[in-house]
Amino acid sequence: MDNNLESVIGLEVHAQLLTATKMFCGCSTAFGAAPNTQTCPVCQGMPGSLPVINGRAIEFGIKTALALGCTVNPLNRFARKHYYYPDMPKNYQISQYEEPLAEHGRLDIEAGGAARAIGIQRLHLEEDVGKLLHEGALETAQSSQVDFNRAGVPLMEIVSQPDLRSSDEAAAYLKALRAIVIYLRVCDGNMEEGSLRCDANISLRPRGAAEYGTKVEIKNMNSFRNVQHALEYEIKRQARALETGERIVQETRLWDPDKSVTVPMRSKEFAHDYRYFPEPDLPPLNVQSAWTEEIRAGLPELPAARRRRFMEAYALSAYDADLLTQSPALAEYFEAAAKDFYRPKRVANWVLNELLRELPGDDEKAIAACPVPPAHLVGLMTLIEDGTISGKIAKDVFEKMYRSGESAQAIVSREGLTQVLDEDILRKAVAQVLSEHAKVVEDYKSGKKAALGFLVGQVMKATQGKANPAAVNRLLAEKLPQV
Ligand SMILES: [Zn+2]
Repeated sequence: MDNNLESVIGLEVHAQLLTATKMFCGCSTAFGAAPNTQTCPVCQGMPGSLPVINGRAIEFGIKTALALGCTVNPLNRFARKHYYYPDMPKNYQISQYEEPLAEHGRLDIEAGGAARAIGIQRLHLEEDVGKLLHEGALETAQSSQVDFNRAGVPLMEIVSQPDLRSSDEAAAYLKALRAIVIYLRVCDGNMEEGSLRCDANISLRPRGAAEYGTKVEIKNMNSFRNVQHALEYEIKRQARALETGERIVQETRLWDPDKSVTVPMRSKEFAHDYRYFPEPDLPPLNVQSAWTEEIRAGLPELPAARRRRFMEAYALSAYDADLLTQSPALAEYFEAAAKDFYRPKRVANWVLNELLRELPGDDEKAIAACPVPPAHLVGLMTLIEDGTISGKIAKDVFEKMYRSGESAQAIVSREGLTQVLDEDILRKAVAQVLSEHAKVVEDYKSGKKAALGFLVGQVMKATQGKANPAAVNRLLAEKLPQV
């Protein structure tokens, strides 16, 4: 890109809240049920039905707002956003407009080694729409069907300021935001399943200019990689257009991940006028400050704080601490093992290399189903540490632990992988050798240090070479006087 151009990016993130019921009715939000089995007159938009606000959704919104340093508006209100689409039976969506739940926050990110604070413009709540299922490809479908199970599921929309300056920063922002909602347990953060969705606004301007260029909105990016690639593509496309004097059209574009291009979806000429007005069926929401403070007091340790603590308490590198704290489940796994093992850096290596290689992911689900509990990992590391098994054998043992769910000790004993036999057997072997070679012991006592090597060799022989030389040395040293 022309170095005199700077990109200006803002992200709108929709997070599906982990409430048991929908935003304005008591229907279940569980994923994967048969179509239209989780609906009622309210979420089907029947005339005469009345919405009721889900208190838990408000609590989750406030929680997130506080974690992002936002001001929670004590008085806020729901509004109707009008448009017609077959996945939305009321022909309006209940959202928030002029009086959102919270505003003016910030999210600290790090990209390319530089720390930056990204402003959060607003955080508001709304309801999701239904899902259209087309028979066959969209272009050739003979019919489309609607599943309203998702209609009315609570969504939290978080809008950033246009403070992001590169696709890397956008990805870092999204990653940091995702970690926060997962830590708060308000959203599962699954981008592939659509519980975290991201739209971007992007424009270019001459570096240092105060005015913004014409912005383009990009939709349909369902992974970190897509967000990054779509923005990179769009930055190049706009830069080329500006350099050749072409006019940038204000429009919405869709990311096509198969072709790696953005394609126009609708231009400004078709932009909606949503005719927002306050939702007459819901009273303005009066958030008591006592409730806000109660929620603030209950906030968990957030990813950034945990990362700093891991670096200080366990002397981990920023890189390791960052990887370990992306998911609270992974961070908790690490801590559970690290508290029982005195070399945290080694624990981090095992978790980040061996464990993550086997696990299908690093999220709650993957960790919850992990067949190697932290105590078993500690058991394995202890066997290496005390010389029972070598580091090389330990990696094989770990794979077997993962497949069988057994402890390292059980596998090592059964398969005879141990370097040292049972400590008692080893002690007996040492005692036997010492009594059989009283003369050599005398030599040793009189200063012949080489005699020790002979004794070690005899113990090794007596144990068919399975004794760990370090352990034998240690046991001999216990029995022999210091010379
Ligand atoms: Zn319902």
